[in-house]
Amino acid sequence: MKEATQLNHAPKVRTTPLPSGRAIPVLGQGTWRMGEEPARRQAEVAALRYGFDLGMNLIDTAEMYGEGGAEEVVAEAIADRREEVFVVSKVYPHNATRRGAIEACERSLRRLKTDYIDLYLLHWRGDVSLAETVEAFQQLKETGKILEHGVSNFDVSDMDEWMALLGGDEVASNQVLYNLAHRGIEFELIPWSRERRIPIMAYSPVAPNAQVQKKMFNDRNVKSIAAEHGATPAQIALAWVLREPDIIAIPKASRPEHIRANRETLDIKLTVDDLAKLDKSFPPPKRKVSLEML
Ligand code: NAP
Repeated sequence: MKEATQLNHAPKVRTTPLPSGRAIPVLGQGTWRMGEEPARRQAEVAALRYGFDLGMNLIDTAEMYGEGGAEEVVAEAIADRREEVFVVSKVYPHNATRRGAIEACERSLRRLKTDYIDLYLLHWRGDVSLAETVEAFQQLKETGKILEHGVSNFDVSDMDEWMALLGGDEVASNQVLYNLAHRGIEFELIPWSRERRIPIMAYSPVAPNAQVQKKMFNDRNVKSIAAEHGATPAQIALAWVLREPDIIAIPKASRPEHIRANRETLDIKLTVDDLAKLDKSFPPPKRKVSLEML
């Protein structure tokens, strides 16, 4: 693995602007299922650091992942490079009350060993009123504990509700399931978000589960496009998510060869013909479908 000292020379990943004007890298690293086993911790820290060395300086985590364990892994990975990394974390819906969200954020900050989170999201919509959550998020922003706030697993109607609340229109991003096999958001949510310049952050962009992974990676068109580009099917799947400038992808990879492969996808330019073939294998939605989530 490369050493951290190479960070300053790491090739930059392209960015997209958040509504505030801040730039966010379009390719980051997920941490779901990290921080669950102490025996794997050092390997997980090393994996994230390797990703940073390659320029993937966006980390997605959550208080839910490993019940705080993933945030502790992130803390170790970013310790000597906090300023270079864009950290996203998420609050559990049941903690997202006016007071609970502030306390949850403070716990996350302690685990992350930092004094601010770049982007703090409501993990999914629960029973707590959205007004309470936005109020807490605004307060966290005013006190500098978070720089931006946003949501996850929100469909258009949820976004409309959120945006109508005081401060809700400062929403920075919506993190949702999006990959070749889950294209439902193309019908309404992506156009809606694009019109308002709110970037979509695509989770599970490579392999939401073994079954979908098999379907994607064994698809005839995916395989032939991969062969033409000298790439792997996983790289084609990820390059497809990254084909638009305003979509952010946060694949999770623990194996160094996967981390490197993911970074290299930014150099893959899918052709119009490639995209048409992928549409044949994984058709875009023809009507509104309910937002899918994992
Ligand atoms: P994913 O990133 O699409 O897929 C992860 C799996 O794909 C791992 O098994 C990984 O293997 C493998 N992989 C990664 N890159 C690969 C490559 N280049 N070639 C072959 N295999 C590759 O799925 P995910 O972890 O579900 O989603 C990514 C992140 O999104 C999560 O970690 C989490 O941060 C976030 N997320 C958010 C929500 C939400 O509700 N907001 C829900 C789900 C996920 P190895 O680990 O063995 O390298």
